[in-house]
Amino acid sequence: MTKKTSNVCVVKHWQEAPKLDESTLADDLMRHFYYTLGRDKVGDSKHYLFQALALTVRDRLVARCRATNQYLADNQCKRAAYLSLEFLMGRALGNAVLSLDLEKQTREALKEYCTEFEYVEQAEHDAGLGNGGLGRLAACFLDSCATLGLPVIGYGIRYEYGMFNQSLDQGFQVEQPDNWLREGHPWEMPAPEQARVIKFFGQVEAHQDKQGRTHRMWVSTQDVLAVPYDVPIPGYRNGVVNTLRLWKSEATDEFNLKEFNAGSYSEAVAKKNLAEQITMVLYPNDSSENGKELRLRQQYFLSSASLQDILHQWVEQHGSDFSGFADLHVFQLNDTHPSIAVAELMRLLVDEHELEWEQAWTITTSTMAYTNHTLLPEALEKWSVSLFARLLPRLLEVIYEINARFLSEVALMWPGDMEKQRALSLIEEGDHPQIRMAYLAIVGSFSVNGVAALHTELLKSGLFHDFYQLWPAKFNNKTNGVTPRRWLAYCNPSLAQLITSKIGETWQADYAEIKALRRYYDDRAFQSQWQAVKQGNKEKLAKLVQARCDVEFDPSMMFDVQVKRIHEYKRQLLNILHVISLYDRIRRGETQGMVPRCVLFGGKAAPGYAMAKLVIKLINNVANVVNKDAQARALLRVAFFPNYNVTAMETICAATDLSQQISTAGKEASGTGNMKFMMNGALTIGTLDGANIEIREQVGADNFFLFGATAQQADEVRQYYDPNAIIQSSQALSNTMALLESGHFNLFEPGIFNDIIAAIRSPHDPWLVAHDFDSYLEAQQRAAETYQDQSQWLRMSILNTAASGSFSSDRTIQQYCDDIWRLTPMQ
Ligand SMILES: *Cc1c(COP(=O)(O)O)cnc(C)c1O
Repeated sequence: MTKKTSNVCVVKHWQEAPKLDESTLADDLMRHFYYTLGRDKVGDSKHYLFQALALTVRDRLVARCRATNQYLADNQCKRAAYLSLEFLMGRALGNAVLSLDLEKQTREALKEYCTEFEYVEQAEHDAGLGNGGLGRLAACFLDSCATLGLPVIGYGIRYEYGMFNQSLDQGFQVEQPDNWLREGHPWEMPAPEQARVIKFFGQVEAHQDKQGRTHRMWVSTQDVLAVPYDVPIPGYRNGVVNTLRLWKSEATDEFNLKEFNAGSYSEAVAKKNLAEQITMVLYPNDSSENGKELRLRQQYFLSSASLQDILHQWVEQHGSDFSGFADLHVFQLNDTHPSIAVAELMRLLVDEHELEWEQAWTITTSTMAYTNHTLLPEALEKWSVSLFARLLPRLLEVIYEINARFLSEVALMWPGDMEKQRALSLIEEGDHPQIRMAYLAIVGSFSVNGVAALHTELLKSGLFHDFYQLWPAKFNNKTNGVTPRRWLAYCNPSLAQLITSKIGETWQADYAEIKALRRYYDDRAFQSQWQAVKQGNKEKLAKLVQARCDVEFDPSMMFDVQVKRIHEYKRQLLNILHVISLYDRIRRGETQGMVPRCVLFGGKAAPGYAMAKLVIKLINNVANVVNKDAQARALLRVAFFPNYNVTAMETICAATDLSQQISTAGKEASGTGNMKFMMNGALTIGTLDGANIEIREQVGADNFFLFGATAQQADEVRQYYDPNAIIQSSQALSNTMALLESGHFNLFEPGIFNDIIAAIRSPHDPWLVAHDFDSYLEAQQRAAETYQDQSQWLRMSILNTAASGSFSSDRTIQQYCDDIWRLTPMQ
């Protein structure tokens, strides 16, 4: 292949084309409102005003995006691609306005329309292209990469339907499709001329060239187009705008030409749907996989399109010489979801670019890096060999070849140990052989990281122990983080202002600076300002809870919050049992030492996860009984917040007093919700799990309400677990179980909670709810007593924010950059 000569005509002086200085934001807003959207009446709807404002801000992003891309074209600098099936972005307007420092101008411009910024913002739909923590991590990472000026592109899927909308019917979760693109997505820019062709099905043929070399050809495939849609990712006030490239599947124009010519025009057009199905919907499973063929198609579609995109750019610049490729590229795989990229890069290099296997393997294993996100066995992806053989026949051959070469390495390390070979093989043998995607990711990567210190240690000692013995240097930890721009500066402006008034505003770009706040934790005047801010945020949340849940939250009570995906390992059940126990005490008149509290739950259950859905029903039934009880009112309120998402979290985390992080130790890889709450001054009640351990280390044991078994103790407890004996020997737990089992919360729905009761009483309950109950109650009591001493609580709250410096995703990304990616910031 030869180097293409570029004959692109560059529009001169584009830098000067749109005048983007201060005086014109109002003019641009008017122009977009009047001309681009064709509106003249302000009263029409906030939707058009939002669109016009988004386009106005977008203009300013586009100019910087072009400069960033120009820098990348002009400089041979190393760059990273972050491959993720999920990007849980939320809204973009407020974040862009903050990043570009346009707030003053925006507010000024909106006066003309007699509207507040906060009102216009409400018209934006969340980009909910993710399930939970993993997808939100990808979004925080993009923010940090741009803010640190790192050349990183995000690659994902432009799902037509994102995470489902959740509503409640009689306390049961109901799922509705999230048609988030219906009113348009003003941030995206399609680039159809850069579409890539993705192959599926077909078969592999061998043929020999003149030199007698055998080539494998993947033929008779059914092809699908991948069309890129680019979303700008602004850095914080540094002029950098990176790109998130989302792929949409479309039919190729050559679809079914035969049928077309045979007169089946309509049938042929209708078949376009099959191609377009690939990016139709996000799979709503968090921490579990259900092995559906369409999901594998999504994974391959993303991996192939993204790799082709990068190889295409390489060939444009360097022709067929790949010798320098690995020096300038690195791919980060967000969990095993895109791990097929290991085999696809090999296929592209060997089949399409005609490299020798060894050279291709060197390139692959020096550019791929894998992040593991979970220890739960149900989340470890396996795909049946027969499905692969049908859908991706050439990829299966590549995986077999990788495996054969890998197993000979295993044989060298453990000579004669056939059991090791079976245990480490990429193929799990059996009646239905399966491909172990995590193993493919490990074998094909130069770096394997966990997402919190404990998680990485458990990977090394447990799940991936043999691989750790084989390649100890591959394994490393990168504790997760969250962006302090969205999760403090933007979502909690009054706290941000208070912080800035004391320590200046450098903390927004350099979050380690937040530690300077420590100086003020004992300052009475500062404490009362801190308290007033929290109070204001609680009033705002109370209004939202009233509107969304029809429950009255009293901002003078403690706000005790657990919001996250509903999962047994996260133990929302333990939390609601505590609520039942408080209610039981109120009924008995044993209210001494009780602090008035409002308990908020929120989160979605995977639509096929019956137990998680039943927990939602239980929370709602308990809430119904408690909230109606006049005797309980002064001490306890309970609400389930429907459709928990990024936008909801922005209001919730700013208003929380007590953050519940109560997973069974050893099960939550890191958690990131815990970090958002900490930044906003919430105190944590939690187990020694995931990043909770590091949070507690940073803030000090005195400023954290610890309870429950450690990961190691949990493993021991499971050997002889007897929950019924535990229930009998605990007065509080037996009272709580008695009230639940009496049917008090399901008087007209007999037996509906039997599965929950049985799970708590089962000696095989892996989540050890009964085991940790007393310890949890005791920690809750400590939290209540502390809350009664407001001055003490405020000290601890300030200390939590002040100690949250290392939970910025800037710190995480700096470590990815230093240890794995080795990128140089753009100047
Ligand atoms: C941060 C966040 C999560 C992750 O929460 P965890 O408590 O770490 O599980 C999930 N969903 C949304 C909307 C979030 O903002």
